[in-house]
Amino acid sequence: MASAPEGPLVEPRRLVVTERGSPSCSIFSKDYKSGKDVLALDLRHTAQLIEVDDGSQTVRCGAAVTMESLVRATLAHGMIPLVQPDFRRMTVGGSIMGTICESSSHQHGHFVDACAWLLLRKGDGTSVTVTKADEAFHEVNGSFGTLCTLLEACVRCRRCAPWVRVTYSLLEDEAAGDPSAGVAHMAALAGLGSCEPVESSFQLEPPLATPCERRPFEYLDALHLSAGWDGRDSLSATAVMCGEDALDQAEIASLPSWESSRDGYWFFEHVIQVARKLRGRQGKVVSEIVPLESYVFRYDRGAFWMARPLRWSLRAALQGMYSLPVLLLFLASAPPLRPLLGDLFTPSALYRVLRCAPVAAVNRKMVICDFHIPLEDAATFIRAIRHEVPISTPLWLCLVRVPERAQPLSPHGHYYPGSGKLLMNIGVWGRVGDGRGVAYSCLLERKCTDMGGRKMLYSSNFYSGEEWDSIYNADNAYTAMRKRWDADGRFPHLFTKTCGISSKAAASMSSQSLGSWLSLWLDRLVEAIAAKLL
Ligand SMILES: Cc1cc2nc3c(=O)[nH]c(=O)nc-3n(C[C@H](O)[C@H](O)[C@H](O)COP(=O)(O)OP(=O)(O)OC[C@H]3O[C@@H](n4cnc5c(N)ncnc54)[C@H](O)[C@@H]3O)c2cc1C
Repeated sequence: MASAPEGPLVEPRRLVVTERGSPSCSIFSKDYKSGKDVLALDLRHTAQLIEVDDGSQTVRCGAAVTMESLVRATLAHGMIPLVQPDFRRMTVGGSIMGTICESSSHQHGHFVDACAWLLLRKGDGTSVTVTKADEAFHEVNGSFGTLCTLLEACVRCRRCAPWVRVTYSLLEDEAAGDPSAGVAHMAALAGLGSCEPVESSFQLEPPLATPCERRPFEYLDALHLSAGWDGRDSLSATAVMCGEDALDQAEIASLPSWESSRDGYWFFEHVIQVARKLRGRQGKVVSEIVPLESYVFRYDRGAFWMARPLRWSLRAALQGMYSLPVLLLFLASAPPLRPLLGDLFTPSALYRVLRCAPVAAVNRKMVICDFHIPLEDAATFIRAIRHEVPISTPLWLCLVRVPERAQPLSPHGHYYPGSGKLLMNIGVWGRVGDGRGVAYSCLLERKCTDMGGRKMLYSSNFYSGEEWDSIYNADNAYTAMRKRWDADGRFPHLFTKTCGISSKAAASMSSQSLGSWLSLWLDRLVEAIAAKLL
C-alpha cells in the first residue's frame, strides 16, 4: 500500500483539502479552499498507481487516477469496472466521494458500491483500510472529503467484450411531459433478470426467450426529450438505451456502428437521430455496435449540451432569450464546424468556463443538478420539471440500485438499504433563458425532499441549515460521524462545503475595511459582466 503523503498533523488543526493536478468536474464554490488554515494535500503522485489483478478481477488504483487511465488499463486485461463513470477526467477520489452512478447502476449501485476496499487518511495523518464489513466504508460515499481523504481504492471489474451492442427504443409520451411509459419500460428492462413480468410491449430483435431466461442488461439508461425534440410539434418522448457485450462476430459485422469522434455528432445528438427513425413506430427497436471505450465515455464530448440550446428558436431569439455569446456558442459548436472547432468543446473546457464564471451567475443562468427519486415517483418528478423548468435539453435517466447497507450521506443509501429497490437518477443540465435558475433549483430540491429522494451535492445547493440538518444530520448522524473521524477543525463541514455561501463574500460583508469592500464590489462588477456574457 502507498504510505500516507504526510505524517501526523500537529496543532493548530488545519483544514485538509485535496489537490488533484487536473480540473475538477464539480462546480460548487471553491472558496472553502482559501484561507490561512488550509492544508492542500497533494495527491498527484497517486495518479500513477494502477495495478490490475486478473485473478480477482480487481484493480488497485490511486485516488487521482483518471477514468480514462483506469479504463485503458483494465481494457488491456479484457476487463472494465462494474460501474464506470462517464467523464474521462473524473478521478477515482471524486467518484468515490461524489456519489457517482452510471448506466450499470441498476445492477451494481454507485461506483463505491463496486469497490472491495478503500485506503483512507484521517485528519490526524494516520491511514486506515476499510472493507464493506466496516461501518466506516459506508460513511464515505457523499462525504465529499469532509471526513477523511481517499488515498487508494480496490475497484471490482468484470470480464468484457471490446464492443457493446446498444439497442434503442422510443417511448412517446401520451400527454405532454408525461414520461410514465418510458419510466415503466426502463423498470421492466431492469427487472429482466429477476423474472418479473415484462409489461412493455417491446420485443428485442431477435426475440429473446422468456424473461426468466434473460440476464439483466449490463447497461441501461435513457434521455427524456423535451416537446418539439425532432424540430416538429411532437410531444416529449423517452429514448431508452440498453447495452450488452457484443459477442457474435456476424452481428458485429452486420449491424451499423457508432463511435465518438471529434468531428462527429455528440452522443445525445446521435440518440435524437436514432429516435427520429423510431418515431411513430411503436414497439420497434434499433441496434448498433459501439466500441466499449466510446460507450463508457459517450457523454464526455457532448457535455456541452448544457451550455448550447438544443436548437435555434426564432421566437426565443426575438424574446431576447439568447445573449450574443450564446449565439456564437451555438454557431461555433454546430456539427458542420466540428472538424475545425471540435476540440474546443471538451468537458475540461466546459468546467473551466463554469469555474471562471461567478457561481452566482451560473446559478441564475443554468440548472445543473442530479436527483435520486424513488422509482414510483420518478414520472411525477420528470413531469414537474417539464412543466415548471424552461429547459429544452434532454434529462438523463439512470436507474440506481440501493446498497446492501445504509449510507447516511449518499443519495441512495438512505432508501430501504438491502431491499434491492431501485431509485431513478434524473440529471437536469441546461440553460434557462429567464435568469430564474436559483428559483427552479430550489423548487426541485423541495420536490425531491417531499418525495423522499435526495440530491447529488456536486453543484450549487440552496438548502437552509435546518433543511440540510433534517436530511443529512437527522439524529445528529453527521455530527457523530465527524466526531468518530475526528474531523472537526481538520476537514471542512459538508454543509459549508456544498451549501455554504461564499465565505469570501461573507468575510467581506462582515469586515469594515475599505480593502474588503473594494474587493467585494470588484467581484460584483466582474460577476455582472460575466452574467451578461454567459
Ligand atoms: C454537468 C455535469 C454532469 C454530470 N454528470 C454526471 C453523471 O452523469 N453521473 C454522475 O454520477 N455524476 C455526474 N456528475 C457529477 C460529477 O461527476 C461529480 O461532481 C464528481 O464527483 C466529479 O468527479 P471529480 O473526479 O472531478 O471530482 P472532484 O470535483 O475533484 O471532487 C469531488 C468531491 O470529492 C472530493 N474529493 C476528490 N478526491 C478526493 C479524495 N481523494 N479524498 C477525499 N475527497 C476527495 C472533492 O474535494 C470534492 O468535494 C456531473 C456533474 C456535472 C457538473
